[in-house]
Amino acid sequence: MTPIGFLGLGIMGTAMARNLLKGGFPVTVWNRTPERCDALVALGATRGESPRAVAAACTTTCAMVSDPAAARALVWGEDGVLPALVPGKSYVDFSTVDPDTAGEIAAAVTSQGARFLEVPVSGSKKPAEDGTLVLLAGGDRSLFDDLAPALSRLGQKALFLGPAGRGAAMKLVVNMIMGEMMVALGEGLALADRAGLAAGDLLEVLDAGAVANPMFRLKGPKVAAGDFGVAFPLKHAQKDLRLALALGDRLAQPLAGAAAANEAFKAARAQGLGELDFSAVCRAVAPTPRG
Ligand code: NAP
Repeated sequence: MTPIGFLGLGIMGTAMARNLLKGGFPVTVWNRTPERCDALVALGATRGESPRAVAAACTTTCAMVSDPAAARALVWGEDGVLPALVPGKSYVDFSTVDPDTAGEIAAAVTSQGARFLEVPVSGSKKPAEDGTLVLLAGGDRSLFDDLAPALSRLGQKALFLGPAGRGAAMKLVVNMIMGEMMVALGEGLALADRAGLAAGDLLEVLDAGAVANPMFRLKGPKVAAGDFGVAFPLKHAQKDLRLALALGDRLAQPLAGAAAANEAFKAARAQGLGELDFSAVCRAVAPTPRG
């Protein structure tokens, strides 16, 4: 099978690279903090020395890192992949970035004669582990088609949305809605508490009605129990709101709800909750002492 490189072994990258290995693909891994490669090397992955060395060794190289700065560093930074992306090679970026970053990486990669696909993903740690992510692709259609066997190991659904940047835009819209929903849940729990209502009763009512959704069903009881074990880091959720607001700014689209939600996420980061799960934003809007 085609050798696949994988750069960035955080929560998502580790699970995704493991699924490619399980699918029988030879995988070469690299991570900025090298120890995070150890578990995958123990499962049979090859250790890469740098992003460039991985791209030189593999036909297709994938990336899954934090944010636009990290995605750009992998391409243009020291030992970045760009010089190794010669004709015949492909680069696939799963990171959640803004459409401009996706477009600039696409232009740089294709100007080298290589192919590029952005594939931000919808779904968190568990879907990444289960291979049931929703894949939001943009860029080179032929690469999307050629990668179908690998993508099918990672996701239950793959959409091709058009030129590079469309996947990023779709991902930001989805996470903007998700961030607003989580703040709404936090405020609802806070008001319910202040009104003397039990959290479990509120969650039961929500789940029985038209606003029932898998996220409230999964996260609601954990939030009520104060369990903020990380699946999607809050600092990344705030990054996505920030990028969605910047997109709205550029397109002159008013986003009053998202702007308010972003302030709640910023407050949570200021309270030191950035490394916890994004549901910890509910703690930032939790009941304040009664005056
Ligand atoms: P994470 O656990 O925080 O991992 C981040 C990864 O990025 C790590 O491998 C980190 O390396 C690497 N990184 C950060 N800055 C870098 C730099 N300057 N150069 C090279 N590598 C760098 O994050 P995650 O949850 O896996 O998320 C990864 C991406 O997927 C993000 O864009 C996030 O928004 C998106 N996403 C996450 C979820 C989720 O539920 N977790 C769901 C959908 C999409 P080190 O190990 O050295 O720090």
